[in-house]
Amino acid sequence: YLDELVYIIGVVGINEMVQYHYGKQMHEDEGALRLAIRAMTEMGLYAKELSQKENMEISFSRTPAETTAQRFAVADLLEKEFREKARKVVKGDVERALSQINETRDLPVYYTNGTHVPPNADISLAERIKIEHIFFPIVDGGDIMHIFLGEGYPDPRGIKSLALKIARNTQTGYYAFTKDMTVCMDCSHVTMGLKEECEKCGSENLDYISRITGYLQAVSGWNEGKKQELLDRLRYGKDEVK
Ligand SMILES: [Zn+2]
Repeated sequence: YLDELVYIIGVVGINEMVQYHYGKQMHEDEGALRLAIRAMTEMGLYAKELSQKENMEISFSRTPAETTAQRFAVADLLEKEFREKARKVVKGDVERALSQINETRDLPVYYTNGTHVPPNADISLAERIKIEHIFFPIVDGGDIMHIFLGEGYPDPRGIKSLALKIARNTQTGYYAFTKDMTVCMDCSHVTMGLKEECEKCGSENLDYISRITGYLQAVSGWNEGKKQELLDRLRYGKDEVK
């Protein structure tokens, strides 16, 4: 059965790789985006070459990398040789991470997942989609486009219209709409959005539910890097979800 095994090469932090070498992020500069596409294409070809050479099925995919995105960022900040370089491009709360680095490795920093535009990039949803959809044909799978919603009760017609546009006009293979929820641990009331207290009983004993990579999960179980990403996410409202 080993012959049928598929090995996967995953990718994380393409945006930060480009930012370090080119000086701009994918959404900031056409040349930066081109470098990202070129690097991804070359890596896809290399995976094919390796497959033939080693007689193994090696696929180039975008893996969920829930822990890797944080782990790589923390590892680079820990290593003297890379610290100052990583510091310039790592996402999240780098100052807080550096102040806690001797106490824990669960730090609020991360590299941008896969080939995504960084969660906090201040660009329109249309621009975000226009960049992210380019990468779908390059990888063998695993890719997902996230649309983080800013409204608790978005207009279903807007969601439908946007879903159809993505499906018809882009190369996106897999996309997900996500809205955040606040769950009261005392009275079980659920409120849309990330709140600081329960709107029903006023309790501050809360948990949150949002999408981490592929699935909705309780935020209390997330690592600090993913929690920081949740705070950093740019969310889109009715002016863009249409
Ligand atoms: Zn409550």
